[in-house]
Amino acid sequence: MKKICNTCKVEKSLDDFNNNKRTKDGKTYNCKTCVKEYNAETRVNPSSRRNRWGSGIYALVHKATCSIHYVGQTDKLYNRKTDHFTGTKDNSVLFRNNLNPNDYEFAILNIIKNKEQRIKHEKLYIDILQPILNKNLTKS
Ligand SMILES: [Zn+2]
Repeated sequence: MKKICNTCKVEKSLDDFNNNKRTKDGKTYNCKTCVKEYNAETRVNPSSRRNRWGSGIYALVHKATCSIHYVGQTDKLYNRKTDHFTGTKDNSVLFRNNLNPNDYEFAILNIIKNKEQRIKHEKLYIDILQPILNKNLTKS
């Protein structure tokens, strides 16, 4: 079994990836070499880890219709995007609804650090925009 690393795009054997319980194949998206490089970089420059988009409100925009189908909030925007687009039914509303991630774009609506504020804003966006995938979630 082989897989392609998300960062260097090189096809490597599964042994070259660390274990990760949250992914489909039980392996991380990035190879060990890239993870090592990333960790070394953030050791030298700790702010670069925090700068990986930070916390906020985001939307999943349906490319063909330019409409917002989902609104969410997270303290790690970059990781959440990865979950939505390459994740599993457990952590991605797209996979849960059998939708093709290629049809969607990840858009950051607002950068908000404070969690309470984020949840308030998320609710506001959902009330105003009525994203169809959020509605499906509340129904079930
Ligand atoms: Zn790599």
